[in-house]
Amino acid sequence: MSKVLVIGAGGVGSVAVHKMAMNADIFPSITLASRRQFKCDAIAESVKARTGVTIATAEVDADDIDATAALIRQVGATHVVNLALPYQDLTIMEACLKTGAHYLDTANYEPRDEAKFEYHWQWAYQDRFKDAGLMALLGSGFDPGVTSVFTTWLKKHHFERIDTLDILDCNGGDHGQHFATNFNPEINIREVTAVARHWENGDWVETPPMSVKQNFDFEGVGPKTMYLMYHEEIESLKTHLPEIGRIRFWMTFGDAYIQHLTVLQNVGMTRIDPVIYEGREIVPLQFLKAVLPEPSSLGETTKGKTNIGVIATGLGRDGKEKTLYLYNICDHEDAYAETGNQAVSYTTGVPAMIGTAMMVTGTWSGKGVFNMEQMDPDPFMDMLNRHGLPWQVKELDAPLEF
Ligand code: NDP
Repeated sequence: MSKVLVIGAGGVGSVAVHKMAMNADIFPSITLASRRQFKCDAIAESVKARTGVTIATAEVDADDIDATAALIRQVGATHVVNLALPYQDLTIMEACLKTGAHYLDTANYEPRDEAKFEYHWQWAYQDRFKDAGLMALLGSGFDPGVTSVFTTWLKKHHFERIDTLDILDCNGGDHGQHFATNFNPEINIREVTAVARHWENGDWVETPPMSVKQNFDFEGVGPKTMYLMYHEEIESLKTHLPEIGRIRFWMTFGDAYIQHLTVLQNVGMTRIDPVIYEGREIVPLQFLKAVLPEPSSLGETTKGKTNIGVIATGLGRDGKEKTLYLYNICDHEDAYAETGNQAVSYTTGVPAMIGTAMMVTGTWSGKGVFNMEQMDPDPFMDMLNRHGLPWQVKELDAPLEF
């Protein structure tokens, strides 16, 4: 019998365990562990109230390999689902290797002292996972995650060759706060303040952070300004689908968000290097996180929808050039009603559950370290439709003008 240990009791972890409990036939044994047990207990109470299922809880510091390995052994976990922070990816992978458990996460490893979003640290585990007969599935959230599955589904069913790919991430939700981030503020701000990079003709093209923008009319949301950014799935997609000549990632931000972020950056509050304050070292961005609203607290007030998808242009199976847009629209209030969390946590936690289901049922299997686009997209796409993230595909008249 499979036993799943989920690490991380934030918004994403909360959605994932709620959705696992709703699919108890696939997930007969669920344990939720995090740095602070009371957060796990509160989620377990909500899971019990909403689904009738009891999940176990535990406290663990996932920076500590031995403590994490001890917990995996104690639980008898066959699969570890890492929904803590990207900083914990390598220690949790090490603990899985020590104990013989399969691994899944939703965000690539980042060192704490440098905002570097690169897969090489985790891809370096390829041989060790392979030799141990274990599978590590990287990036099973929405982006990365579903966006890669969307791309391989388009390729499998509609394209001989994809030439350009644009990933569009729109959050049209309003949480009523002056400034808050939809997922972990530290990770989110590191991401949006990084230099923008996209892949073009076999090379990275760099532009200053938030310097390239376009307007786009998102179904279910309306017109929004979206900004060119670096995002980790560009690296894995250009590696596994080298035919794609250009890959770009766009994310929408409102004017108020940009204004606040600009001020915070200008005054040094987004710095990730330590400064001395009252005789001790603090990292300004970590302090900022402490005073911002917790993303998991935003669910109750957030209204509106997200729309995340991919636009691919290339040579269609019919021999003609075509442009297809494949996307999901998710409603913040519906997500909250179902799991007690807003849509950004929901759109990440549901694919984490589905990716784990793929592994637990053996639908996706392999020995080594894998990204989402290396797997058959069909069973995953089918589960998206059945578990709260239905998708739609439409043909555009022409490629994007920008
Ligand atoms: P949160 O910050 O809300 O939750 C993270 C949880 O991990 C918290 O409960 C935190 O504990 C816990 N944690 C942190 N450090 C440790 C540690 N050393 N040991 C054990 N537990 C720890 O983040 P989110 O839920 O918003 O995001 C979770 C993950 O999902 C992140 O990695 C994020 O990057 C990723 N993500 C991926 C997306 C995708 O589409 N692929 C989209 C959004 C997020 P505590 O509560 O004590 O701080």
